[in-house]
Amino acid sequence: MINIPKGTKDVLPQESYKWQYVESVARETARLFHLKEIRTPTFEHTELFQRGVGDTTDIVTKEMYTFKDKGDRSITLKPEGTAGAVRSFIENGMANGVLPAKLYYITPAFRYERPQAGRLREFHQFGVEIFGASGAQTDAESIIIADTLLKRLGLNVKLYINSIGCKACRAKYNSALKAFFEPHLDELCYDCKTRFEKNPLRLLDCKEESCKAINKGAPSMLDYLCEDCSAHFESVKGLLESAGVEYEIDNRIVRGLDYYTRTVFEFVSTSIGAQGTVCAGGRYDGLIEELGGNSMPAVGFAAGIERLLIVMEQSGVEIPNPDKPTVYLAGMDEQSRNKAFTLATALRQKGVLAEIDHMSRSIKAQFKYADKIGAKYVAVIGESELLEGAMNVKNMADSSSEKVSFDNAVAYFSEK
Ligand code: ATP
Ligand code: MG
Repeated sequence: MINIPKGTKDVLPQESYKWQYVESVARETARLFHLKEIRTPTFEHTELFQRGVGDTTDIVTKEMYTFKDKGDRSITLKPEGTAGAVRSFIENGMANGVLPAKLYYITPAFRYERPQAGRLREFHQFGVEIFGASGAQTDAESIIIADTLLKRLGLNVKLYINSIGCKACRAKYNSALKAFFEPHLDELCYDCKTRFEKNPLRLLDCKEESCKAINKGAPSMLDYLCEDCSAHFESVKGLLESAGVEYEIDNRIVRGLDYYTRTVFEFVSTSIGAQGTVCAGGRYDGLIEELGGNSMPAVGFAAGIERLLIVMEQSGVEIPNPDKPTVYLAGMDEQSRNKAFTLATALRQKGVLAEIDHMSRSIKAQFKYADKIGAKYVAVIGESELLEGAMNVKNMADSSSEKVSFDNAVAYFSEK
């Protein structure tokens, strides 16, 4: 017996409709905002993520699935979608095409993490990237895309925003942070000691309770924003307000990734505990240049599909299940089974989900089966029905029944 690898999951046939639903709402939301899908490979050269995600991040230092292929190249399974989208944008000369490039993807992502609820080693993201636009409207639009998706999925999660400024104002803030944390160095966790040296901003991102307690008193980036960054942040907030999108400012949001600038945001649900962040993103004006393109602004986000599904489940969102047959056609003997077969074929040709018996079950067992698969109607065909040219159709919801002629069956069920 070979088991599934740790931290991975099967999507079983009885639940795949939920995935299809979330994916279709995501695609439809993307379409409304004029985003186009980009599909990039599941694996890339390791260097892309080292440079693109940032080699002080948890992802690059601890979480990547990296291996040598048979040609001795270092390959990594994508831990997120942004780096690949940026690589493709540059490699395909999209900067010379129509700008902004408004892109989205639905992709698996791989991170070697300690598996727990909402934290897997293979998970899935819906991501959005908008390349080439620097204005506050684009930041606001990307937040509103995420907000629209979440609302369309029936979720009510909280939006937190922050600004982490630009290179210039962040340098001053980093010094202020170091001055604040210096006296607490001994009390910080092992990772935070490294962060203190390499990337002080990420001290605010630590999930250890003891570090969180110290973080509470840290200075706020918002007090260090330069004039331009401050005006940009004010515009983003104004646009969100005019769109009726509620937010809260959380000056501890810095995002785990190094390439962010200015606006950062997270949508958080309180119902999955520590893994409550269902969606996260922001502006990352430095990334395209970092990966070898011409300097170009960018903004985007990614939502974790598993976490969306968990929160939908916990919030009691009803997901429509299109996998339930409209009609189950029960046959008794060989002739009536053949009639059920031809009727089912005709119904399917007209787009009606119809099912028949494949297991030579008794009529009683067929009813049981029809009930189990959630058929809305059960039509029974036997000797007398064949003679009559009509069948008895039972509505499984209220047990009422009706005679329907074979000739009229397609029209009858097409309306159901
Ligand atoms: P966290 O702080 O929870 O580790 P992160 O900052 O690493 O999240 P991002 O890199 O911003 O997450 O990824 C965007 C989204 O992808 C997250 O908000 C989350 O919904 C989802 N996600 C990230 N890692 C995982 C994982 N291991 N399993 C399932 N979903 C994940
Ligand atoms: Mg993480």
